[in-house]
Amino acid sequence: ERVNVVPFFHHILDRFEMNKEETTRIDRSIPRDSIFLWMDKDKIIQVVDNVMSNALKYSPKDGVIRFKVQRERNRIKVMIHDQGPGIAPDKLDKIFDRFYRADQARSRQLGGTGLGLAIAKEIIQNHHGQIWAESTEGKGTKVFFTLPLIARKREGNR
Ligand code: ATP
Ligand code: MG
Repeated sequence: ERVNVVPFFHHILDRFEMNKEETTRIDRSIPRDSIFLWMDKDKIIQVVDNVMSNALKYSPKDGVIRFKVQRERNRIKVMIHDQGPGIAPDKLDKIFDRFYRADQARSRQLGGTGLGLAIAKEIIQNHHGQIWAESTEGKGTKVFFTLPLIARKREGNR
Protein backbone atom coordinates (compact mmCIF):
# COMPACT_ATOMS: atom_id res chain seq x y z
CA GLU A 1 0.00 0.00 0.00
CA ARG A 2 0.96 3.68 -0.34
CA VAL A 3 2.35 4.96 2.95
CA ASN A 4 3.57 8.32 4.23
CA VAL A 5 6.71 7.17 6.00
CA VAL A 6 7.00 10.29 8.19
CA PRO A 7 4.16 9.45 10.64
CA PHE A 8 4.80 5.75 10.01
CA PHE A 9 8.36 5.82 11.43
CA HIS A 10 7.35 8.14 14.30
CA HIS A 11 4.63 5.69 15.26
CA ILE A 12 7.02 2.71 15.32
CA LEU A 13 9.51 4.64 17.45
CA ASP A 14 6.78 5.82 19.83
CA ARG A 15 5.92 2.21 20.44
CA PHE A 16 9.57 1.37 21.12
CA GLU A 17 9.86 4.19 23.62
CA MET A 18 6.74 3.04 25.48
CA ASN A 19 7.94 -0.55 25.75
CA LYS A 20 11.61 -0.18 26.49
CA GLU A 21 12.80 -0.38 30.08
CA GLU A 22 16.38 0.39 29.21
CA THR A 23 17.85 3.78 29.88
CA THR A 24 18.73 4.03 26.20
CA ARG A 25 17.53 7.20 24.48
CA ILE A 26 16.25 7.32 20.90
CA ASP A 27 17.26 10.40 18.95
CA ARG A 28 15.09 10.92 15.85
CA SER A 29 15.97 12.78 12.71
CA ILE A 30 13.03 12.46 10.33
CA PRO A 31 12.06 15.00 7.64
CA ARG A 32 8.88 17.03 8.30
CA ASP A 33 7.45 16.88 4.78
CA SER A 34 5.48 13.83 3.69
CA ILE A 35 7.33 11.07 1.84
CA PHE A 36 5.21 8.45 0.12
CA LEU A 37 6.40 4.91 -0.58
CA TRP A 38 4.82 1.67 -1.69
CA MET A 39 5.34 -0.95 0.98
CA ASP A 40 3.98 -3.87 2.84
CA LYS A 41 3.58 -2.01 6.14
CA ASP A 42 3.75 -5.03 8.42
CA LYS A 43 6.93 -6.23 6.75
CA ILE A 44 8.72 -2.89 7.07
CA ILE A 45 7.61 -2.69 10.72
CA GLN A 46 9.34 -6.03 11.15
CA VAL A 47 12.54 -4.70 9.57
CA VAL A 48 12.62 -1.70 11.91
CA ASP A 49 11.77 -3.92 14.89
CA ASN A 50 14.59 -6.34 14.10
CA VAL A 51 17.23 -3.67 13.58
CA MET A 52 16.07 -1.54 16.52
CA SER A 53 15.96 -4.50 18.89
CA ASN A 54 19.58 -5.29 18.03
CA ALA A 55 20.53 -1.65 18.62
CA LEU A 56 18.79 -1.75 22.02
CA LYS A 57 20.26 -5.15 22.87
CA TYR A 58 23.82 -3.98 22.20
CA SER A 59 23.54 -0.42 23.52
CA PRO A 60 25.43 0.46 26.68
CA LYS A 61 23.52 1.83 29.65
CA ASP A 62 22.59 5.46 28.92
CA GLY A 63 23.49 4.94 25.27
CA VAL A 64 21.86 6.92 22.49
CA ILE A 65 20.39 5.33 19.38
CA ARG A 66 20.19 7.66 16.44
CA PHE A 67 17.35 6.98 13.96
CA LYS A 68 17.79 9.05 10.84
CA VAL A 69 15.69 9.18 7.68
CA GLN A 70 17.06 10.94 4.61
CA ARG A 71 15.27 11.58 1.38
CA GLU A 72 17.51 11.08 -1.63
CA ARG A 73 16.80 11.51 -5.32
CA ASN A 74 14.88 8.29 -5.90
CA ARG A 75 14.93 6.56 -2.53
CA ILE A 76 14.89 7.07 1.20
CA LYS A 77 17.82 6.03 3.33
CA VAL A 78 17.28 5.01 6.95
CA MET A 79 20.15 4.80 9.40
CA ILE A 80 20.02 3.23 12.86
CA HIS A 81 23.18 4.07 14.75
CA ASP A 82 23.98 2.62 18.18
CA GLN A 83 26.89 3.14 20.56
CA GLY A 84 27.40 -0.58 21.24
CA PRO A 85 30.52 -2.72 20.92
CA GLY A 86 30.49 -2.67 17.11
CA ILE A 87 31.21 -5.50 14.69
CA ALA A 88 34.57 -6.60 13.28
CA PRO A 89 35.03 -5.58 9.60
CA ASP A 90 35.30 -9.20 8.39
CA LYS A 91 31.93 -10.02 9.97
CA LEU A 92 29.95 -7.04 8.71
CA ASP A 93 28.44 -8.82 5.70
CA LYS A 94 27.91 -12.13 7.50
CA ILE A 95 25.52 -10.69 10.08
CA PHE A 96 22.84 -10.73 7.36
CA ASP A 97 23.23 -14.51 6.90
CA ARG A 98 20.80 -16.92 8.51
CA PHE A 99 21.82 -18.09 11.98
CA TYR A 100 25.06 -16.08 11.89
CA ARG A 101 26.00 -14.58 15.22
CA ALA A 102 29.19 -12.59 15.69
CA ASP A 103 31.01 -12.94 19.00
CA GLN A 104 29.71 -16.27 20.29
CA ALA A 105 30.15 -15.59 23.98
CA ARG A 106 28.37 -12.27 23.98
CA SER A 107 25.64 -13.46 21.65
CA ARG A 108 24.87 -16.49 23.79
CA GLN A 109 24.61 -14.28 26.83
CA LEU A 110 22.28 -11.83 25.12
CA GLY A 111 20.09 -14.47 23.47
CA GLY A 112 18.54 -14.66 20.02
CA THR A 113 18.58 -17.06 17.09
CA GLY A 114 20.54 -15.10 14.50
CA LEU A 115 17.58 -14.68 12.17
CA GLY A 116 16.59 -11.05 12.73
CA LEU A 117 18.85 -9.45 10.11
CA ALA A 118 18.44 -12.28 7.58
CA ILE A 119 14.68 -11.70 7.67
CA ALA A 120 15.22 -7.94 7.39
CA LYS A 121 17.43 -8.44 4.34
CA GLU A 122 14.90 -10.65 2.61
CA ILE A 123 12.11 -8.11 3.18
CA ILE A 124 14.20 -5.15 1.98
CA GLN A 125 15.26 -7.03 -1.15
CA ASN A 126 11.63 -7.89 -1.88
CA HIS A 127 10.98 -4.13 -1.73
CA HIS A 128 13.84 -3.46 -4.19
CA GLY A 129 15.92 -1.76 -1.50
CA GLN A 130 19.33 -2.42 -0.02
CA ILE A 131 20.52 -3.10 3.52
CA TRP A 132 24.06 -2.98 4.89
CA ALA A 133 26.07 -2.21 8.02
CA GLU A 134 29.05 -0.05 8.85
CA SER A 135 30.87 -0.23 12.14
CA THR A 136 33.82 1.00 14.11
CA GLU A 137 34.77 -1.62 16.65
CA GLY A 138 34.36 -0.27 20.15
CA LYS A 139 32.41 2.73 18.93
CA GLY A 140 29.12 1.42 17.59
CA THR A 141 27.25 0.15 14.59
CA LYS A 142 25.28 1.81 11.79
CA VAL A 143 22.70 -0.25 9.95
CA PHE A 144 21.36 1.34 6.78
CA PHE A 145 18.45 0.40 4.57
CA THR A 146 16.96 2.04 1.52
CA LEU A 147 13.52 1.94 -0.06
CA PRO A 148 12.66 3.31 -3.52
CA LEU A 149 10.42 6.37 -3.79
CA ILE A 150 7.25 6.17 -5.84
CA ALA A 151 8.16 7.42 -9.33
CA ARG A 152 6.66 10.83 -9.99
CA LYS A 153 3.85 10.74 -12.56
CA ARG A 154 4.65 12.54 -15.80
CA GLU A 155 2.39 15.48 -16.58
CA GLY A 156 0.83 14.33 -19.85
CA ASN A 157 2.76 13.38 -22.98
CA ARG A 158 5.15 15.55 -24.86
P1 ATP B 1 17.53 -12.68 16.70
O1 ATP B 1 17.47 -11.35 16.00
O2 ATP B 1 17.05 -13.81 15.84
O3 ATP B 1 16.90 -12.62 18.04
P2 ATP B 1 20.32 -12.07 16.76
O4 ATP B 1 20.02 -10.70 17.24
O5 ATP B 1 21.54 -12.73 17.32
O6 ATP B 1 19.06 -13.02 17.00
P3 ATP B 1 20.53 -10.92 14.13
O7 ATP B 1 19.61 -9.84 14.53
O8 ATP B 1 20.36 -11.52 12.77
O9 ATP B 1 20.48 -12.11 15.18
O10 ATP B 1 22.02 -10.41 14.25
C1 ATP B 1 23.10 -11.27 13.88
C2 ATP B 1 24.34 -10.96 14.68
O11 ATP B 1 24.88 -9.70 14.28
C3 ATP B 1 24.13 -10.82 16.18
O12 ATP B 1 24.18 -12.06 16.84
C4 ATP B 1 25.30 -9.94 16.59
O13 ATP B 1 26.46 -10.72 16.72
C5 ATP B 1 25.48 -9.05 15.38
N1 ATP B 1 24.81 -7.73 15.54
C6 ATP B 1 23.63 -7.36 14.99
N2 ATP B 1 23.31 -6.09 15.30
C7 ATP B 1 24.32 -5.63 16.08
C8 ATP B 1 24.60 -4.38 16.73
N3 ATP B 1 23.75 -3.35 16.64
N4 ATP B 1 25.75 -4.28 17.43
C9 ATP B 1 26.61 -5.32 17.52
N5 ATP B 1 26.41 -6.54 16.94
C10 ATP B 1 25.29 -6.68 16.23
MG1 MG C 1 18.44 -9.58 16.33
